[in-house]
Amino acid sequence: MTDTPDARTAAPVMEIFASIQGEGAFVGEPQVFLRLRGCPMRCRWCDTPGSWRVGDADRARIAATVERGGARREKPWATPFQAACWIAEVEPGTPRTVSVTGGEPLVWPEFLRGLRSMLSPRRLHLETGGGHPKTLAQVIDGFDHVSLDLKPELDLDPPEEIVATAGSPTSECAPRTSAEWRAARAACLALVAGRDACAKIVVSGERSIDDLGPLLDEVERCAPGLPVYLQPATPIGGSTAPEPKTLVLLAEMARDRDLDVRVVPQMHRVLGLP
Ligand code: SF4
Repeated sequence: MTDTPDARTAAPVMEIFASIQGEGAFVGEPQVFLRLRGCPMRCRWCDTPGSWRVGDADRARIAATVERGGARREKPWATPFQAACWIAEVEPGTPRTVSVTGGEPLVWPEFLRGLRSMLSPRRLHLETGGGHPKTLAQVIDGFDHVSLDLKPELDLDPPEEIVATAGSPTSECAPRTSAEWRAARAACLALVAGRDACAKIVVSGERSIDDLGPLLDEVERCAPGLPVYLQPATPIGGSTAPEPKTLVLLAEMARDRDLDVRVVPQMHRVLGLP
């Protein structure tokens, strides 16, 4: 793309498809998923590592309905208008909620800001890894719901910032140190407090209640009314599922802090859906 105003709002689309929401507060709801490429974070249990990097040879998978010609590949860089056109192609029936996921969607704030006017009056949901509070503050008013991952630093390898030949990636770097992660989580929690939002904590077999308890303390301190979803890691790509007793103990720890807690596995994985 050339450096026009349109090009600056572009983001690399990895895939757009209709499916059932498998995580968080809207689990089970038929939605459209807009997955963007690009993520500087390196969660060890990441289930979409193919979304991390942005390459010129990438292609976007547009899972259009059969009536509209079926799935195809497109060049990935899309403006909000182009993404809205592709979204309309993939959903059967009437317009539905769009979940913007990744990768880390907050890498592309100009694109996110442009989506609202293109997709109204649908609900627009944001799924974020919670490492970019300043960028979240810039875009949050354009979303009807935010699903915020709370990540313990123990689950993260050092970040790798995005190298992109187009678009306008955020200038905010992902946290590197424990102190930076604590500050990012606290700032993100303060931003979503009192909004239509939820927090998600992935519980892998490698983590103990001592590792994850401090995240519950942070929710209690920064956003006490925020629903918290404890999500057992799906054992794929080298990550392991937690012991059931770990989930039960964590849920009890959340209740001890008067948090609104649920334990929900990745339902799209359980159902064999994308
Ligand atoms: S933030 Fe999301 S996409 Fe990025 S590494 Fe973590 S789980 Fe994967």
